[in-house]
Amino acid sequence: MAAEVRTRYAPSPTGYMHIGNLRTALYEYLIARKYNGKFILRIEDTDQQRYVEGAEEAVFKTLKMAGIRHDEGPDIGGPYGPYVQSQRRHIYIEYARKLVESGNAYYCFCAPERLAELKREQEAKELPIKYDRRCLSLSKSEIEKKLADNVPYVIRQKMPDTGTTCFEDVVYGTITVDNSILEDQILIKSDGLPTYNFANVVDDHLMKITHVVRGSEYLSSTPKYNLLYKAFGWEIPTYIHVPPVMKNATEKLSKRKGDPSFEDLVEEGYLVEAIVNFVALLGWSPGGDREIYSLKELEQIFDIKGINKAPAIFDMNKLKWMNGEYIRKMPPKEFHQMAKPYYRGVISRDIDLEKLSGLLQVRTEVLSEIPAKIDFIENLPEYDISLYEHKKMKTTPEGSLASLREMLPVLEGVSDWNEEVLKDVLLQLARKLGVKNGQILWPLRTAITGKEVTPGGAIEMAYILGKDETLRRVKIGIEKLSSSL
Ligand code: GLU
Repeated sequence: MAAEVRTRYAPSPTGYMHIGNLRTALYEYLIARKYNGKFILRIEDTDQQRYVEGAEEAVFKTLKMAGIRHDEGPDIGGPYGPYVQSQRRHIYIEYARKLVESGNAYYCFCAPERLAELKREQEAKELPIKYDRRCLSLSKSEIEKKLADNVPYVIRQKMPDTGTTCFEDVVYGTITVDNSILEDQILIKSDGLPTYNFANVVDDHLMKITHVVRGSEYLSSTPKYNLLYKAFGWEIPTYIHVPPVMKNATEKLSKRKGDPSFEDLVEEGYLVEAIVNFVALLGWSPGGDREIYSLKELEQIFDIKGINKAPAIFDMNKLKWMNGEYIRKMPPKEFHQMAKPYYRGVISRDIDLEKLSGLLQVRTEVLSEIPAKIDFIENLPEYDISLYEHKKMKTTPEGSLASLREMLPVLEGVSDWNEEVLKDVLLQLARKLGVKNGQILWPLRTAITGKEVTPGGAIEMAYILGKDETLRRVKIGIEKLSSSL
């Protein structure tokens, strides 16, 4: 029987969770779910200098919001804990010593000043920047003396001098590198903590990880990881390196340059389900034209073979479209609950908000668009009388003035202010005057909203605004037109 599939998301707590991270976590999660495996969360906090307070909480929060539940992790424990690397430091040093014993690693006592000098020299000679292995030739007794004298040290991986290292990546295929180009990388730093390059291998092995999904920036280090697996005699996991998420053909998506993180998108009014669906399709395709998939559906159909090598472009317009699709599929009551916070502070009138939500649900792509769509409800905006001009509706400011004058008494006479009645009286008026419906409705909508685009037609807007406000605005329209014509 094949081993249980175990995947892990291994963020470093260095800040917010960007879209690329979310995609990695999602793919790891989907692989685990698809094969009835386990999805593990591991915090890689061994780079104390890059540690950002609160970043861990951001990871937990984001995963929870996105519905990406882990089966083992720092907060819930599990059989292979602890799941925070800084709490596992004794493990790494033990494994590094094993490598020293087997001749695959060595102590290096070179001071930072010497290494900086070496780097300068290599740069000046345009040589590759590489540790020169001075400490590799130290004798056993020299090493013991330095250790006894507490000389600070690091432990370096000893790379083979000749030959090649070859590995398979599900996305990028077979990759082969010459061992001679690999530097003797540091495994244990002078502070006793491991580097990412070492800790990820040890932990992935000890946590029995079978599939590693991570950004393609780690591809070039993977031969070194392979050599570590080999030195220990451990089984190599399936590597799935994913291309970066790009803003356009040349620039990576970057929070620092103002591109949104997952939390930003939620704050901007994107639905979590839509973001997750969108992120899943960043560089992965189930084949076919269908694009809307719930997380549950993705759990069934995800297949690593569908991951694309070409960098994925974060297309905001596509996300908007997708969000709109999700909004339209929501039960109206749920949409109303989500829309309500966007009415706060924008509308203080006592109007039929549920009706308004119904109108907005079919016309909104992102919730944060709502305030701008409904701002006219509170106060009639300043507008130019050219707005009354509409070719298709065959309206002009002059014709609109006449229409508004005719409809004012009709509207004043309406006692039961609802859409049906309003429709009856307004269409009846159009027939009576022998004009097109639009020649009544366009002027009315313009007069009461002052906008070219509104969440509904004249009748719906008049109903929402109520009788008094509609009449007041129609009168303003009449005054405005008559004083400028
Ligand atoms: N801690 C690494 C990062 O946040 C994880 C890379 C990996 O998944 O192996 O980039």
